[in-house]
Amino acid sequence: MQKKELLYEGKGKKLYKTDDDLLIVSVFKDDLTAFNAQKTGSEVGKGALNCKISTQLFHLLESHGIKTHLVKTLDDSSQLVKKVDIIPLEVVVRNIATGSLTKRLGIKDGTKLPFSLVEFYYKDDALNDPLVNDEHCLMMDLVKSESDLEELKRLGREINSILKKFFEIRGLNLVDFKIEFGVDSEGNILLSDEISPDSCRFWDIKTNEKLDKDRFRQGLGNVKMAYEEILKRILENK
Ligand code: UDP
Repeated sequence: MQKKELLYEGKGKKLYKTDDDLLIVSVFKDDLTAFNAQKTGSEVGKGALNCKISTQLFHLLESHGIKTHLVKTLDDSSQLVKKVDIIPLEVVVRNIATGSLTKRLGIKDGTKLPFSLVEFYYKDDALNDPLVNDEHCLMMDLVKSESDLEELKRLGREINSILKKFFEIRGLNLVDFKIEFGVDSEGNILLSDEISPDSCRFWDIKTNEKLDKDRFRQGLGNVKMAYEEILKRILENK
């Protein structure tokens, strides 16, 4: 598959056209950003780790019937993916309160939530990706219909339930994560973007050690080692 001109460069990935209009190449970058890109950095090899982690997790989800944009991996840090129109919503699912949830609602950090919470954030850097409710989504035409919104919530919960169990038996708490969906040329809603320690919070069940992007954001160091640990546990045969 021929990688052609750059279509888009985001914080974590570069997307390239290919000679097939329906397919694009997604290249995972080594860059790290935090707090709306106020803090930036780079870890050599992080892109390849995220690519491997995300590929494994998308395969796991596919094996449970979740449709994704992933076609195949091309090399250590690139994937061939279906071209989709990204729904401009970050779907966040939370099992344990931390981050913006604790700040917004004053819930004590680390509180186990009584049920998995699904939230939508409007993907708009200029507005700092604000939290939106169902009616905001419909009013602003961020989704086509109420049933698409329900489908995003259902998919968020199902993906959470698959991943939470998968990580629990590998000694990790899946604290929260962000996913994105896109619509393909046939109108199917596909899990897109990535699932990696850049977009998830993983806390070690025994030690509560953070093994995700918060190591970078909070200056805890050993970012790459943490990502390697996540990949190692994903690859464990359980
Ligand atoms: N998240 C993300 N991209 C964003 C915002 C959040 O991947 O632009 C992820 C984040 O890594 C965490 C979850 O979504 O796993 C919830 O993030 P939160 O709302 O707590 O915001 P934060 O405290 O990370 O700024």
